[in-house]
Amino acid sequence: MSEQKLYDVAIIGAGPAGMTAAVYAARAGLSVALIEAGAPGGQMVNTFEIENYTGFEKITGPELSMKMFDHAKATGAEYVYGDVQQVTKQPNGTFLLEAGMSQFTSRAVIVATGTKHRKLEIPGEAELSGRGISWCAICDGAFFKDEEVVVIGGGDAAIEEAIYLTGLAKKVYVVHRRDRLRATNVLQERAFANEKIEIIWDAVPTKFTATTEGKFAAVTLKNVLTNEETELVASGAFIYIGNDPVTHMLDGLGVVNETGNVLVNPDMSTAVSGLFAAGDVTHKDLRQVVTATNDGAIAAQNVYKYLEI
Ligand code: FAD
Ligand code: NAP
Repeated sequence: MSEQKLYDVAIIGAGPAGMTAAVYAARAGLSVALIEAGAPGGQMVNTFEIENYTGFEKITGPELSMKMFDHAKATGAEYVYGDVQQVTKQPNGTFLLEAGMSQFTSRAVIVATGTKHRKLEIPGEAELSGRGISWCAICDGAFFKDEEVVVIGGGDAAIEEAIYLTGLAKKVYVVHRRDRLRATNVLQERAFANEKIEIIWDAVPTKFTATTEGKFAAVTLKNVLTNEETELVASGAFIYIGNDPVTHMLDGLGVVNETGNVLVNPDMSTAVSGLFAAGDVTHKDLRQVVTATNDGAIAAQNVYKYLEI
């Protein structure tokens, strides 16, 4: 049986944090496994347009993903498919990463697994997922050309994607649970100026209902001030109510906080020596492409220092 390759660093997740870490680690001369369970790019893959990544006034998410991916590969980082389920520190100080039928070993690890979208957990949501309910406007928006859709949430993602949907749909309702949006001012102003967007304030969805054919029919909304319930008929709904960190592979290592985010020091190291984290999965204030790349660079630089010791 051939001996398993021992990488200097295994990076879990090929979003902007992981891909930037790969560029910095490979350029520092380290052998790098960049392990990804889906498509390279992370959340950028499902983002129509990015307008706040320095150097690009406007670039589509898929285009920026491919630019970062090509860059990472060109530096010599090895891109491998793998859905990492468990990370273990072995008695000899190296790490074992278990990903179904595959296993990887490395001297250091950077966790850059980002987040996954949150669900409302209300009746009808699971049944109508893919039948009118979506978490990705860029993937599914075209199904609603000239129809009416509902966006749930009031953060950057909800407002940005609601604006994107106005390019396809006849009307976009934004349902938000209070009387002020969380989204940045520039997005708010665009939404308020867009005639196709109507914001329904102080409301939360309580259930989704289906047509007799099992397709999306309507969402029931409850006004949180009056408790009054109304039904909003539409062709579909897009849910953008935030994200939760993806850290199940770190169970037992004691490096996550009460919200499930990885606790990191300023050098992106964790409480486990040799284990680093970067990007949205960490405990931080600003979750953006530019801050993810920043984290990735810092993590890789400090992995290099750690391995030099
Ligand atoms: P992610 O991008 O989440 O990447 C994590 C990667 O890890 C994914 O590819 C995932 O498949 C992989 N992964 C997860 N678990 C495993 C596992 N067990 N094994 C292997 N691989 C795994 N930011 C901006 O700056 N500008 C914007 O315009 C903008 N628009 C956005 C629009 C939307 C709709 C959303 C949801 C977010 C947007 N953001 C934007 C935020 C930005 O996309 C994130 O901050 C950024 O992508 C975080 O990068 P990351 O590398 O930390 O994680
Ligand atoms: P977010 O900022 O956490 O916003 C989530 C929104 O959903 C909030 O308005 C919240 O309401 C609402 N919400 C949460 N739980 C709810 C529930 N159970 N029912 C109804 N509404 C609920 O999440 P996000 O918009 O997905 O953004 C995630 C991160 O990506 C953020 O850091 C964001 O800045 C970043 N991002 C950036 C851009 C950009 O730069 N252009 C674009 C997209 C995302 P409250 O406001 O009342 O809490």
